[in-house]
Amino acid sequence: KEKILEVKQLKKYFLLRNGLFRTSSASIKAVDDISFAVYQGETLGIVGESGSGKSTLGRTILRLYEPTDGDIWFQGKNIAPLGERELKPFRKDMQMIFQDPFSSLNPQFTIKRIVEEPFLAQSKLSKKERTEKVLQLLEKVGLSEDALTKHPHEFSGGQRQRIGIARALAMNPKFIIADEPVSALDVSIQAQVLNLMKDLQEEFHLTYLFISHDLSVVKHISDRVGVMYLGRIMEIGPKNAIYDNPLHPYTKALLSSVPKTNLKAKRERITLHGEPPNPAEPPSGCAFRTRCPFAHDRCITERPKLAHQGEGHFVACHLFEKTAANSLSS
Ligand code: SF4
Ligand code: MG
Repeated sequence: KEKILEVKQLKKYFLLRNGLFRTSSASIKAVDDISFAVYQGETLGIVGESGSGKSTLGRTILRLYEPTDGDIWFQGKNIAPLGERELKPFRKDMQMIFQDPFSSLNPQFTIKRIVEEPFLAQSKLSKKERTEKVLQLLEKVGLSEDALTKHPHEFSGGQRQRIGIARALAMNPKFIIADEPVSALDVSIQAQVLNLMKDLQEEFHLTYLFISHDLSVVKHISDRVGVMYLGRIMEIGPKNAIYDNPLHPYTKALLSSVPKTNLKAKRERITLHGEPPNPAEPPSGCAFRTRCPFAHDRCITERPKLAHQGEGHFVACHLFEKTAANSLSS
């Protein structure tokens, strides 16, 4: 399969103001040297606790944040160093769906105005053609014509997310980053929105980067899954490898916290102890070592690299880093 996106050694650091922390030049390494690819037509789920850098990763890839370092190859072009004007042709191909559709939809505007907004800025459609387009989009997301003249507050959370999706689809994007798109919704509504996203993916040949803290949501929609901790990818691979045969102690701990019904019977359980470290002062070596029951000397001094375990399954842990030859960063 063809890559639509590849990030290489991507970093996004936020500088902290003087006085806020002990060191004057402290920074938060929200995205700390991350490399992975996303393939055409797939959904790559990114899962991790809040504060692990998932949203920052998404926003940096879309160039809503300026990357600190690294490459973002999108459709064969490194967009990391591009200025706003050079970025413009790529912007319409990459869209975002947000967690809270309400805060991303202007409450003053009608649904027609909200969904047609991208057309106003980026195309020369007539008023009639725009309305036609909006109607088509609303139909695709399961809303009827009478939505046109209503305002966001007249819709339920699930319907508002459908509106958010319609707007994201307006410019015919190829790649969509969805950041916790169902986390604000009732569990009963979540599956509907996820299934809608799957249907639209098929119909419009979309590729998703799907960000969520919710392991069962990620499992439902993803083809592959990456696990983030403190700005790093700890493990990445096909969904079944991650859920049925997790290797990284952090992935095992995350899955141990999911109610038993979602677990295969004989998985080793790891309970997470302690708080996640302060991201301004991450541990040396392996970021997970302060909470890892298997931490050993090497974990203090050496940062583990993602190492291939077979069939596209990579793990960043010294327990699995047997030879230098199978390292990803060759
Ligand atoms: Fe645990 Fe060490 Fe593996 Fe990190 S590298 S997950 S501390 S065993
Ligand atoms: Mg977030």
